Amino acid sequence: MTRDIQLFDSKSKMKRLLTPRVPGVIDLYVCGMTVYDRCHLGHARVMVVFDMIVRVLRAIGYTVNYVRNITDIDDKIIKKAHESNRLWTEVVDQYIDAMHEDERALGVVPPNHEPRATEHIQSMIQMIQSLMDQGHAYVAEDGDVYFNVRSFDRYGELANQNLETLYHQARKSLSSAKHHALDFILWKQAKPGEPSWPSPWGEGRPGWHIECSAMSKALLGPSIDLHGGGIDLKFPHHENEIAQSECSAQCAFVNHWLHVGHVLIDDEKMSKSLGNFVTLDELFSLYHPEVIRYLLLSSHYRSPVHYTKELLIASQRSLSRLYGALKQVSATQIDQQACKPFYDALLDDFNVPQALSVCFKWAGEIFSASSRQVIDTGVVAANLKHCLGLLGLCQMDPASFLQDEHHLSIDVEVIHRAIADRNEARLNHDWATADAIRADLLAQGVVLEDVAGETIWRKA
Ligand SMILES: [Zn+2]
Repeated sequence: MTRDIQLFDSKSKMKRLLTPRVPGVIDLYVCGMTVYDRCHLGHARVMVVFDMIVRVLRAIGYTVNYVRNITDIDDKIIKKAHESNRLWTEVVDQYIDAMHEDERALGVVPPNHEPRATEHIQSMIQMIQSLMDQGHAYVAEDGDVYFNVRSFDRYGELANQNLETLYHQARKSLSSAKHHALDFILWKQAKPGEPSWPSPWGEGRPGWHIECSAMSKALLGPSIDLHGGGIDLKFPHHENEIAQSECSAQCAFVNHWLHVGHVLIDDEKMSKSLGNFVTLDELFSLYHPEVIRYLLLSSHYRSPVHYTKELLIASQRSLSRLYGALKQVSATQIDQQACKPFYDALLDDFNVPQALSVCFKWAGEIFSASSRQVIDTGVVAANLKHCLGLLGLCQMDPASFLQDEHHLSIDVEVIHRAIADRNEARLNHDWATADAIRADLLAQGVVLEDVAGETIWRKA
């Protein structure tokens, strides 16, 4: 028996009842990482939010087929391999291992399938061929294959913009080879020395957008219930996925689109390309990974998270309060009826902040009862632990979590700035300043190490 859940669909821009095509079974595809560096907090938010969504859907009776892909071939991967004089496959393997390590630390349950793009090249070639056969794609003069956006009437529906408006925004990016500024690449000709695969259009590799359309179809079929990713993927990536999938299969691609808000630093999106990111391994050396999980879940998934040191400290305190309540009393039998307000919050578009407020009310009841030593709050503790478990929180032994509370009193941003200042001092042969910066960080519990021309830091 499944429970009804209202979900915001970012295509129709309204909350709608989730109605799976097969009753009780939900197919979910989430756009995953391009593996060329360590994951930062923005990546973690997508991982953790969909982990919560899958846990909740399973807890209310659905079978969820969760696919999250890995983009393991891309210009950035090739560049990284070239720079570090390694094979591209070595770069990919290194960062997939690092991503899995970060996920385990965050308590993220692995997806049912985690396809790598390079395992599905044949499906991509088949989809491109079908687009060519139906007149939706063309080979440009330079030999690359493009999708013809004017061949698809509904192009722009997800972005809620017409082709004309999008065209004016995109004009600057018009390359000489493609016919329309919004046309996007499906198959790229290989440059000498680059990894490539044989295709009807010569040796080359797939464009990024076709990867998700092809892998989603290969693993879940041409139509799926839920498709998710970061809000920055809405246009053009997801718009392009719709165009490819619907033109090749002639059926609706996705029932519900779910987009997760950005992690912002100083009101700007945290991203690798902007260079304003904090990696997870850095954060884990300062905070218990569960504090990071709490921080990422405590805002509504569609709202932005404004990353600050204060928010990290507040998350640490909140989590300690919940664990502190669980430490007061042994949990007995849960009371399903009493858990209704918690479930009701989640069944309304995964309103985690509302659900957490129910948990804090229970924590308050436990603290006040234990201070007056009156009523037995074993049932409240059982409800609290059960409900937090749905969010993947507070399942450790409370005493061990509370012992591990110690953290550095310095912000990652401050460490980054100090390293940059020290590098500048070293460039200017100002060794006294460089040494003073290093000593100052050490006094705050941070060790700097100069490895292969790069400065890395760790907790002392
Ligand atoms: Zn995708």
